[in-house]
Amino acid sequence: MYRSHSCGELRASDIKKEVTLSGWVQKTRDKGFMIWVDLRDRYGITQLIFDEERTPALVVKKAKTLGREFVIQVKGTVIERESKNQNIPTGEIEILVNELTVLNESIVPPIIIEDQTDDGEDIRMKYRYLDIRRNPVKNSLIFRHQVGMQVRNYLSNEGFIEVETPYLIKSTPEGARDFIVPSRMNEGQFYALPQSPQTFKQLLMVGGMDKYFQIVKCFRDEDLRADRQPEFTQIDCEMAFVEQEDILNIFEGLTRYLLSEIKGVKIGDFPRMTYEDAMRTYGNDKPDIRFGMKFGELNDIAQHKEFNVFNTAELVVGIAVPGGASYTRKEIDKLIDWVKRPQVGALGMVYVKCNEDGTYKSSVDKFYDQDDLAKWAEATGAKAGDLICVLSGPTNKVRAQLSALRMELAERLGLRNPEEFAPLWVVDFPLLEWDEETERYHAMHHPFTSPKPEDIALLDTKPGDVRANAYDLVLNGNEIGGGSIRIHDKETQALMFDHLGFTPEEAKAQFGFLMDAFQYGAPPHGGIAFGFDRLVAILGGQETIRDFIAFPKNNSGRDIMIDAPSNIDSEQLKELNIKLDL
Ligand code: ASP
Repeated sequence: MYRSHSCGELRASDIKKEVTLSGWVQKTRDKGFMIWVDLRDRYGITQLIFDEERTPALVVKKAKTLGREFVIQVKGTVIERESKNQNIPTGEIEILVNELTVLNESIVPPIIIEDQTDDGEDIRMKYRYLDIRRNPVKNSLIFRHQVGMQVRNYLSNEGFIEVETPYLIKSTPEGARDFIVPSRMNEGQFYALPQSPQTFKQLLMVGGMDKYFQIVKCFRDEDLRADRQPEFTQIDCEMAFVEQEDILNIFEGLTRYLLSEIKGVKIGDFPRMTYEDAMRTYGNDKPDIRFGMKFGELNDIAQHKEFNVFNTAELVVGIAVPGGASYTRKEIDKLIDWVKRPQVGALGMVYVKCNEDGTYKSSVDKFYDQDDLAKWAEATGAKAGDLICVLSGPTNKVRAQLSALRMELAERLGLRNPEEFAPLWVVDFPLLEWDEETERYHAMHHPFTSPKPEDIALLDTKPGDVRANAYDLVLNGNEIGGGSIRIHDKETQALMFDHLGFTPEEAKAQFGFLMDAFQYGAPPHGGIAFGFDRLVAILGGQETIRDFIAFPKNNSGRDIMIDAPSNIDSEQLKELNIKLDL
């Protein structure tokens, strides 16, 4: 038996017990006649004492050879500690050791295994197994497990069945590139790793499974943006015989359940907003509604003077920054520089200070009088003491720019409190999205999403105006889930493929299996998928998902611990019939 207790377990009530503990040496303090060792395992730290008077001499001698991260086993007696440590649960006791076994030695670890570490990300990732010994990482992984358990609990109680779907599949377009796996047995042919189990979950509905979920790995070969992983985990769900309303209710329930079980937070309002309203009011389809600073469109009240920048703009729009009237000229200039950074891309910014005395001072006083500015204040909800920031230009661009500014200012003003949770459904997404590069429409969500029946007629005339039965769940400015009611008949699906630029032959080659299945009584169905990594990070009050993934990849998609991706040897290539032409 390696251990009778864990290193986090023993208390004053255990004094006099004979115990066996195993773990890692966190640190040793050698006072010559007495040696203390902090012994650590997943559960905590227990202090060991080796005492010349009470511990056999050979054992003391062996204790002097212990180094950091040695794995040891000790047998001894629980005794009361002289100087108690109130900071740890085992701080009232220590183990007077009389037997010591070194189970394994350790070379000196390259990172500091303490809660606080100065070691950089790269070195921590290279030695992730040591990093995992640190409390913050270990606790994040345990937290992830707990969230996963609660998800399974909730969905199982709602009658969902977890079904595994294959990883070696045929490509499913969800907007990203596939990771490809060559098939040895089928020369010249390839599997794709799933971007999501989308088609399979729909086939499960045809199969009558009715309520499916899976906590599942998905793979997308995208250019990595910060905090994206090429492989990530979704809570993937699908239901049959449901309408959008049913799905929103079930998953609103899941969100409430998780927030209450995990965070002890009871959510009041769970608002819904159309995509159009979200874009108009927040410039963004995943608005953070923990704070205001809503957009005020100013076209009607700003395009009547000689100010050509505004007159020629498609959209003139502003936000009120609480307390911003007190910003100095220098601070405002800095803000203007900020919106002009290439990442944001505004050409400039007009501002209005709403003075405490009810007057206005703007950067465009030459063109606008106090009455004009008062109207702007009304439109943006600015009060005395606020600063109105106004951007103008092409609608989509300006919305994105002002939305970036809104988020930045909220961050600076401390309005994004990680312990406050404001979920929101964004509904009625457009079905199609114009792609500048390929000059054609793409499915905004994916090609299986159904159009709103009342909009189908617009498919031929104004495809960009067709709304979908698609919805996103947004939490604190993050999209954490998205889904749709699917097309379940062959004809509509064929119509969609046609509008997405697939010839009937291409559609058949890629999705024949789905269209075939739709001929055998496909029930009406719909679903949703949550980004599990992000959900866990948000619930954990963190911004980065990496801390919640045991073995994450870096920003270039590399696992620097195992050094992947890597070359494979020529024999393997030959077997796969792949010739590299480098
Ligand atoms: N498969 C979709 C996605 O990964 C989710 C869904 O439509 O259920 O975003």
